[in-house]
Amino acid sequence: MSRGLLIILSGPSGVGKGTIRKYFENNRKLNLAYSTSMTTREPRNGEIDGKDYFFTTREKFQEAVRNGELLEYAEFVGNFYGTPLSEVERLRDEGKNVLLEIEVQGAKQVQKKCPEAISIFIIPPSMDELEKRIRGRKSEPEEVIQERLAKAASEMKMVPDYKYIVCNDDPKLAAELIETIILRNIELEKNK
Ligand code: 5GP
Repeated sequence: MSRGLLIILSGPSGVGKGTIRKYFENNRKLNLAYSTSMTTREPRNGEIDGKDYFFTTREKFQEAVRNGELLEYAEFVGNFYGTPLSEVERLRDEGKNVLLEIEVQGAKQVQKKCPEAISIFIIPPSMDELEKRIRGRKSEPEEVIQERLAKAASEMKMVPDYKYIVCNDDPKLAAELIETIILRNIELEKNK
């Protein structure tokens, strides 16, 4: 059995990475496993510990960094986010294609450590639309929204570092395009 692919799904906060990911939940063809991240952010309404994130303290997060337990990590709008390395390795060794839904600083670290990773950047149809989506979550104070918007503008500059760019005008279409990208890469890997 061959080792699974590593797929990076990145793009600015609010672009719809999480919504797109949900389209893959029951997709057997892709043989995907989602890597659950660790974060120091407070859970939003409805978020489940161990499913959406492993919610943790700054102390525990820093301990994981010191112990080399994270494949990558980044500070994003005052909170830390990181990918547990052992889980990614275990799933890939089992032949699963592992999907990382991460922001751009972390994606850069993964691209460096794992040059075989398939990198996909999701762009919004416009920056106005992105603002609407970030505001639509209604879960954060205005200052955090402003920070996320400012960050999004700089995140968009990372587009050239990615192999595939997908516009999320319609999440179903974006998910279908990403499915095509992943299926083609599975095929290419098989023929290696
Ligand atoms: P949110 O607070 O909206 O859930 O996430 C903020 C940003 O952090 C999003 O762009 C999300 O994709 C990203 N993110 C989630 N998990 C990770 C992770 O493990 N590592 C990195 N670098 N970014 C992450």
